[in-house]
Amino acid sequence: MFDVAIVGGGPAGASCAAFCAGARLRTLLLEREVFPREKVCGDCLNPACRPILERLQLAERVWSLPHGVLDRVEFMGIGGRTLTVALPVGDGAEIAVKRSLLDQLIMNRARELGATIHEGTTLTALTRPNSVAGNWTITTADRTFESRTLVAADGRNSTVARLCNLLPKGARERVALQTHLPLPDGFGNRVVLQFLPEGYSGQAPVGDGELNLCLVSGPRKIAALRHWAEARFGISPGHSWRTITPLTRAPIAPANPSLLLVGDAARVVEPFTGEGIYYALASGELAAGAIIARHQGRAETEVAAAYSAAHDALYRGRLWINSLARAAVLSPRVASTFLEVARFQPALLRLLTKRIVQ
Ligand SMILES: Cc1cc2nc3c(=O)[nH]c(=O)nc-3n(C[C@H](O)[C@H](O)[C@H](O)COP(=O)(O)OP(=O)(O)OC[C@H]3O[C@@H](n4cnc5c(N)ncnc54)[C@H](O)[C@@H]3O)c2cc1C
Repeated sequence: MFDVAIVGGGPAGASCAAFCAGARLRTLLLEREVFPREKVCGDCLNPACRPILERLQLAERVWSLPHGVLDRVEFMGIGGRTLTVALPVGDGAEIAVKRSLLDQLIMNRARELGATIHEGTTLTALTRPNSVAGNWTITTADRTFESRTLVAADGRNSTVARLCNLLPKGARERVALQTHLPLPDGFGNRVVLQFLPEGYSGQAPVGDGELNLCLVSGPRKIAALRHWAEARFGISPGHSWRTITPLTRAPIAPANPSLLLVGDAARVVEPFTGEGIYYALASGELAAGAIIARHQGRAETEVAAAYSAAHDALYRGRLWINSLARAAVLSPRVASTFLEVARFQPALLRLLTKRIVQ
């Protein structure tokens, strides 16, 4: 019997679990994989994450992990023409850390603070509370748990949302491939966002002599994009890639009766801007605040409304950037033309980049 059960141990679920456990709530975290595990991600940590990691007393530990410090972003058009924008330096610098390392650190912090964590444990069924004071029954392959509040932190293809009939119908969407490679000689401290006729590629050094490589394209062109990457980086055709789809989907209302959604489970943003981990951590913290308030006796409707409003506000300021990024990456040729124009008007691109990394 738990005060809160969280399904999914990525940055959204693990941060929510850490904040709840830190407030002495009986906190359960269920994670399908056994950590450390990699996941499809560009590994870039937006500087906006730092204050949240500081509140989790994790900032020093994160910055002690092997990482790449990214001092510039290089936009590369289809013809190979590049445009470079400097990134902030010092404490506000963007870094890149492998998700196997980052996610395990946050999960371990939740464990340290008292959360009960079951890895290698997949949610398979849910029974809703049958009264306001009732509990969720949460079923996995071999166990059943009870909890007053449930948090869906299980990513863009959320099982919780599906079992609660909240998951939007899947549209035919783009696909992403991701892998780590030995860092090519002379790559430098740059993050490369490269437009290609088939889609786009993101490349960033993650420390310890490794490069994160992501490819994004429609399902029909992803094989061609992979062939481009094999030739460009000398990757063997038998190399194994991680994959995920969809890249975007309609958002889900984040607050439902005794159920909160956090991170990608609630809203997926365009990966191009490298902000998903920030939204995951920030919404995990907001949800924890709501659950703690509920536990302290605030009315359920009041708490749900406050979480919903705070969640909207979190995304509102930045959604236009995501729409812009999505519009650009859906048409790599338009994005390349934009880069040509931006070469003569670099202030616009500088402004957009600044908005994203601050
Ligand atoms: C190509 C690409 C590049 C990206 N690059 C970046 C980037 O550079 N920087 C950035 O900030 N963001 C980036 N993102 C976005 C970022 O990866 C996500 O926004 C972020 O991982 C969301 O965190 P989350 O905790 O909500 O979900 P996730 O990280 O997806 O975690 C969900 C967890 O739930 C678990 N789970 C799923 N189903 C179940 C179940 N039934 N039972 C138990 N557990 C379950 C999964 O195993 C997983 O560990 C990128 C995304 C893509 C696709």
